[in-house]
Amino acid sequence: MFDEDERFVTGGFIGEDEEIEYGLRPRTLDDYIGQEKVKNNLKIYMQAALDRREALDHVLLYGPPGLGKTTLAGIIANELGVNIRITSGPAIEKAGDLAAILTNLSEHDILFIDEIHRMSRTVEEILYPAMEDYALDIIIGKGPSAKSIRIDLPKFTLIGATTRAGLLTAPLRDRFGVISRLELYGIEELKEIVKRSAGILDVEIDDEGAAEIASRSRGTPRIANRFLKRVRDFAQVKYDSKITYKVASEALKSMEVDELGLDVIDSRMIRTMIENFGGGPVGLDTLAATIDEDANTIQDVYEPYLLQIGFISRTPRGRIATKLAYDHFEIPYLEN
Ligand code: ADP
Repeated sequence: MFDEDERFVTGGFIGEDEEIEYGLRPRTLDDYIGQEKVKNNLKIYMQAALDRREALDHVLLYGPPGLGKTTLAGIIANELGVNIRITSGPAIEKAGDLAAILTNLSEHDILFIDEIHRMSRTVEEILYPAMEDYALDIIIGKGPSAKSIRIDLPKFTLIGATTRAGLLTAPLRDRFGVISRLELYGIEELKEIVKRSAGILDVEIDDEGAAEIASRSRGTPRIANRFLKRVRDFAQVKYDSKITYKVASEALKSMEVDELGLDVIDSRMIRTMIENFGGGPVGLDTLAATIDEDANTIQDVYEPYLLQIGFISRTPRGRIATKLAYDHFEIPYLEN
């Protein structure tokens, strides 16, 4: 199976992102580019919570990796002037771990849980009364003498992040007051992000250079920033440090990312659909097994972008490769 960590165009976090993300992460809503609908709604909810001196309602953010869920959670905390505690579903191993985190929060603080769908069931059950009543139910003792005591928690806000809202159990999902979906970014928005990041990194870039990086970034800011960093190296070593269209396209080509941001895995997936399954419809699991990939990874990481650029479509009977995909890979399309 292909290791997601080694995939250069992945929206997921890879080690080297850490140092660059630190400085590039927007800190205020005004710096957070795009996602207008989500931003406008959040502005209202945050203002209302501030006016009432209450904690913000619990927020669930969902969408493919690298679109800015963690960033947005940090911005919400910053704009509300509260602390944020960041953890992830798989990191919370025992119910007691979560209880410890919750009891250490201060009034109106934010608890951000990334990959919240990967929490264990026993941990998840601690969250229900915590979210609903700001309380922890603790069982003391065993057998017939066991009794349950309730501990009050500070009024906090849970921000959960996941790739698909459908991965959450219904009782957990129902406890979020705000459920927002982050969309893949348009090229203009990505261009703005690239220019903003270039400014922070102090690297010169022209409009066409930014457009070239943007159009190969699969709608994903994390990928755009990662490409910018690589292209910057290229510009520095082979050219006069300025990023132009020529520098960007040459650098990205050398990374085996095509004009649309597709890499070898996307190409294998589409070619398999066309060559092995006559263009589809092919079921997700069948496709996953054929290309030796994880079905969830296909659905969360590869597909959203391929759907957005119209290369595949989803039908009740499975995925279909569209004429656009045939054309891109220069395979004759036979109308049927
Ligand atoms: P996620 O939590 O959804 O995986 P992150 O919040 O870690 O994504 O975002 C990845 C990187 O992309 C951040 O470090 C940030 O620099 C950049 N980024 C994300 N969204 C935006 C945005 N709307 N505007 C500018 N930069 C962004």
